[in-house]
Amino acid sequence: MNLHEYQGKELLNSFGVRIQRGIVADNPKKAVEAAKQLAAETGTGWWVVKAQIHAGGRGKGGGVKLAKSLDDVETISNDIIGMMLKTPQTPPQGKKVHKVLIAEDVYYPGNSEPEEYYMSVLLNRATGKNMIMYSTEGGMDIETVAEKTPHLIFTEEIDPLLGIQPFQARKVAFNLGLSGVALKEMIKFVTSLYTAFAKSDASLFEINPVLKTSDDKILAVDSKVVLDDNALYRHKDLAELRDLREENEIEVEANAAGLNYVDLDGNVGCMVNGAGLAMSTMDLIKQSGGEPANFLDVGGTADAKRVETAFRIILKDTNVKAILVNIFGGIVRCDRVAQGVIDAYKNMGDAIKVPIIVRLQGTNAIEAKELIDASGLDVISATEFQEAADKVQEVLA
Ligand code: GDP
Ligand code: MN
Repeated sequence: MNLHEYQGKELLNSFGVRIQRGIVADNPKKAVEAAKQLAAETGTGWWVVKAQIHAGGRGKGGGVKLAKSLDDVETISNDIIGMMLKTPQTPPQGKKVHKVLIAEDVYYPGNSEPEEYYMSVLLNRATGKNMIMYSTEGGMDIETVAEKTPHLIFTEEIDPLLGIQPFQARKVAFNLGLSGVALKEMIKFVTSLYTAFAKSDASLFEINPVLKTSDDKILAVDSKVVLDDNALYRHKDLAELRDLREENEIEVEANAAGLNYVDLDGNVGCMVNGAGLAMSTMDLIKQSGGEPANFLDVGGTADAKRVETAFRIILKDTNVKAILVNIFGGIVRCDRVAQGVIDAYKNMGDAIKVPIIVRLQGTNAIEAKELIDASGLDVISATEFQEAADKVQEVLA
């Protein structure tokens, strides 16, 4: 689950990480109020208006603008709220902006030579440890830095059981070329950043840029936070921060129906029981020349109701030109699933306009095939896995 910048910053702040302060607003009027309040609290006279969407690169896309007066705050907020913001990380049509963060300007005049760093915390799956990745080259695409000047990216591996050690935090600060007050500030920053990451069961924290002001304060100007969905049950407060408007609609609906569904780009819908079989079904579709439109694990109880829900979800993706149902009857009997498919099909009237290929294998597979063949419905049955994939290709040809 992703957080918005303002939510990520609040989380960081609650762990003692210094942040560029800001107040979120969902209309221009509130934006002006936020700006006034912020001026009173921080003394800032300039503000940055930042679009809150789940995507980076907002600066380049026109989603981050400097406001030098309250009038500016109002006009800029008016422009940004409601816009379809396009950045290199959004879908081609962009993402709709519902809220802006009104933040204190931290590149203020007088802060003559701010330094921008890059810092992220993530899991290194290869070593099974957490990793702090950091660079003096902040403020730009880290991908470009990695490509052009990889020697300017440092990593520090943290043992998840021991947590960050003081010598490690010092090493990070030294490698960033800091000394004096800034060094101490950075040690504090890294330590609280890592603690925030670990305590919130995150899978990614990315702060780009981390800013050093000319008076040696270190603060987070941006935040990208990804939390581990599987750990959300123990962070009820964080789970509430979910913004469903930012997520794939079909996936949200499937999730609510208890189906494991991941939207993909192809045109062959897949309905499968078991994640492993679902993965190999996608592989076989691809090997046979097709492209899967989704990953869908209907789970153990593939009854008529569930099959119907699954069909409806698969068909919401208008790219789907054929559906392959691939069920292995181990605990669930194939004839029951076959009846489920038939009932669901009949129930849906003419909602199903694409060919359906059904392969049922395992307990009572023969009875299942007989049921399908005798149903008179426009369903193609197959026995072997490859045969099913070939039949998909035939109907698409
Ligand atoms: P991103 O483009 O989505 O990564 O959004 P960021 O939060 O990183 O902001 C983009 C850029 O806006 C930063 O790299 C800064 O150069 C600029 N920016 C952010 N905060 C301020 C600020 O307080 N003052 C000024 N002048 N620029 C800022
Ligand atoms: Mn950024």
